[in-house]
Amino acid sequence: MSTVTLTIDGIKVTVPEGTTVLEAARQAGIAIPTLCHDPELSAPGACRLCVVEIQNMRNLPASCVTTAAEGMVVSTCSETVVEARRTILELLLANHPEDCLTCAKSGECALQDYAYQYGVRKAGFAGERHDYPLDESNPFIVRDLNKCILCGKCVRACDEIQGRTVINFAFRGFATKVATPMDLPLGESDCVFCGSCISVCPVGALTPKQMLGTGRVWEMRKVRTICPYCGTGCTIELNVKDGKVVGITSTPEGTVNGRALCVKGRFGYNFIHHPDRLTAPLIKQPDGSFREADWDEAIALVAEKFGAIKTAHGSDALAVMASARCTNEDNFLANKLARAVFGTNNIDHCARL
Ligand code: SF4
Ligand code: SF4
Ligand code: SF4
Repeated sequence: MSTVTLTIDGIKVTVPEGTTVLEAARQAGIAIPTLCHDPELSAPGACRLCVVEIQNMRNLPASCVTTAAEGMVVSTCSETVVEARRTILELLLANHPEDCLTCAKSGECALQDYAYQYGVRKAGFAGERHDYPLDESNPFIVRDLNKCILCGKCVRACDEIQGRTVINFAFRGFATKVATPMDLPLGESDCVFCGSCISVCPVGALTPKQMLGTGRVWEMRKVRTICPYCGTGCTIELNVKDGKVVGITSTPEGTVNGRALCVKGRFGYNFIHHPDRLTAPLIKQPDGSFREADWDEAIALVAEKFGAIKTAHGSDALAVMASARCTNEDNFLANKLARAVFGTNNIDHCARL
């Protein structure tokens, strides 16, 4: 593989040909701020926050779309670069609600973090501000386009992760916004509510509706686990507050799915604490009603009934249907129950068909 060697902030870095300056800097342990860049998505060079100074190059190129070249000398934090980034942040804040006190994204908002890092306390430019109504038209996502910084990550996630292309940039200039075809509310579009757009949005423009008001990000414990819905086995993160699951998020480190999830995996978690959920076995009474029992009693009763069927009609009168929604271990035990305990090969699995 051909490589190039360049110098970034005085550090010599050797990277494969075709690597961007941003990736090369990250490889050298140098952090460059980005709002529109995402390693899982294509790079449009939209937000310009990742600008750097490159010797013998005019202007300040965006490092996410500049290819590293042999002998390049890059500065990622010169005074000029820092000043340019400050101005970009001020321009973004010039048309931003600055609603951090009540914004659901506070604490994990890239704009907030960079404003803090670069000491940008307020918008440096007075002017017109958007006043879009909240889009709450669909059951899972709240869109607040007043907080949108037009980074385009949601547009690319919808296209490149989910393959839906439900949203794109519409209108021009100050009126530019992310919109569905005909600028319909999201709930009336072809959106499949996968939430990939939420997972990449760097600010509070896209929020999971069910998580609104459930707590601040720093109050949540993230527990990584596997989605219980199907056999794909997507990695999810349970957001737990006070011992309760208040939301599900995804992580780029998900080995099977990256950040992609389907609507069930991302939003279908209300069963966990639902008052109708069975938490103890119920035994049917002769009059048709159910009485709560403990597990020992319930298992003994089921074993007795299975034993009676086997004695009266033989092992093959019994069958087991396993499920892709069970773990491998559960399905292994179901197999043992059928073959070793019941003595039948009548066992099947929904995912086999
Ligand atoms: S999106 Fe970020 S910067 Fe904007 S109000 Fe919310 S937390 Fe503050
Ligand atoms: S929820 Fe999924 S399908 Fe709907 S706009 Fe977002 S990324 Fe596209
Ligand atoms: S909604 Fe979020 S991800 Fe989409 S363009 Fe706006 S800021 Fe970027």
